[in-house]
Amino acid sequence: MTTTQQRSTALGAATLAELAQSVRGDLLTPDNDQYDDARSIWNAAHDRRPALIMRCTGVADVIKGVQFARSENLPLALRGGGHSIPGFSTVDGGLVLDLSAMKGIRVDPSRKRVVAQAGSLWADVDNETQAFGLALTGGLVSTTGIAGFTLGGGIGWLVRRCGLTCDSLVSADVVTADGRLLRASADEHPDLFWALRGGGGNFGVVTAFEYALYDVGPTVHAGAVFYPGEHAQAILESYRKACAAAPDALSTAVNLTTAPPAPFLPESVHGKPIVAVLGMWSGPLAEGDDRTRPLRELGPVITDLFGPMPYLAMQTLIDPLYPRGIHNYFRSAFFDELDEDRIASVLRSYHAAPNALTELHIHHLGGAMSRVPAGSTAFATRDQDFILNAVARTPDAEGFSAAADWARAATDGIGADSAMYVNFTGEAGADQVRASYPPETYDRLVAVKDQYDPANLFRLNQNISPSAS
Ligand SMILES: Cc1cc2nc3c(=O)[nH]c(=O)nc-3n(C[C@H](O)[C@H](O)[C@H](O)COP(=O)(O)OP(=O)(O)OC[C@H]3O[C@@H](n4cnc5c(N)ncnc54)[C@H](O)[C@@H]3O)c2cc1C
Repeated sequence: MTTTQQRSTALGAATLAELAQSVRGDLLTPDNDQYDDARSIWNAAHDRRPALIMRCTGVADVIKGVQFARSENLPLALRGGGHSIPGFSTVDGGLVLDLSAMKGIRVDPSRKRVVAQAGSLWADVDNETQAFGLALTGGLVSTTGIAGFTLGGGIGWLVRRCGLTCDSLVSADVVTADGRLLRASADEHPDLFWALRGGGGNFGVVTAFEYALYDVGPTVHAGAVFYPGEHAQAILESYRKACAAAPDALSTAVNLTTAPPAPFLPESVHGKPIVAVLGMWSGPLAEGDDRTRPLRELGPVITDLFGPMPYLAMQTLIDPLYPRGIHNYFRSAFFDELDEDRIASVLRSYHAAPNALTELHIHHLGGAMSRVPAGSTAFATRDQDFILNAVARTPDAEGFSAAADWARAATDGIGADSAMYVNFTGEAGADQVRASYPPETYDRLVAVKDQYDPANLFRLNQNISPSAS
């Protein structure tokens, strides 16, 4: 008998029937027709069988779910957009609190604020806020959930102009391990508010996020330019110079990968190494062509797709490249300079790429993100101008472990003491979590954990262990 069957049986029909009467959302067990769909997450590398999936309809369901997990001693997984790379939003034999149906969004254009429920995706929030020409730093891929994304930090095409997503957080509604609903903000439970901005899902279930908004678009100057892979070294050297001179309203990233068979690329390069430089200028539109030109002159251009486009189009541009249902492992390393040694290390990894799906992303950070005082949020790595995200992907389990090893080697090559980013990390060992925070930030996170979740109910995450464990 599997753990799931044992737990489902142990829950018993009477217990489940009692729960079903007290919640409004669906309860799915392994015998339900929708169970297989409901248990799957974006990253197919994690195929787990929860004992129970609760599709929450609101805060009341979330409170009951938290109480149920405690009373039945069930491992508890939280799900927003379901894009966790290490698979934290599912669990063998436990309870999944699935908030994906909670997508209520209210924009207040006069105050430039939005309140979004925790099941919203970036596509949902971008769509509502852009109706008023407003936005905040959102995901590069619109199918990603706002919940896990915000709680880990949040890097997107507005990061240098508006900071991380968590820097725009004004307040959060949180159901804590004891089943209370708290509002965390600069004035209410400020310690919890501090921890939520970078400390991940360790402290409770966030049911709604309130964010500050900025005037953005609706047209921006954005896109991608493609260069031949054999010029990667010269391109990275020139990219370093372009980044040093980049204004805050320009956020960019390089992707060293293999050319997909896309119609906008000539057939002659399909399947060959390629360097894509992507980015967004969100300043005055008339300046867009000039401001993005340095990025479009890094080498011999294959295709230049930069130009004026709707903000919403840029926010969904690369969605098709990140499909659900294949095996994924990410690993990251922050670094201060794209110096010769680091370029050499990245190129070694590029040449050793195990398959055509693997990618090496270098995001240019700094700007507004770097001006937020490091101690003011749990996301504390603000003095590093770049992050490397090594993306290892395979269609299925074959070759996945070797691809993950490649990603580990790629990020190790950046520097032994490089900090990691919790949202771009495919595993969850205690060492990885410690490597994601400076020691004083980690200690402070433990103190907040001790206060709000001393028994570690919320442990399926980049876990901050409470002192008692
Ligand atoms: C295709 C893709 C593109 C990405 N692009 C970017 C990017 O551009 N920038 C970036 O910074 N990151 C990016 N990421 C990483 C992303 O930020 C994380 O994977 C994030 O955790 C996804 O959030 P989610 O809500 O979709 O995930 P979920 O799997 O639903 O949740 C992940 C974890 O977040 C916590 N959590 C979720 N909901 C709640 C809640 N309501 N309350 C408390 N904790 C909760 C839990 O610990 C949960 O295990 C990307 C990931 C993918 C797969």
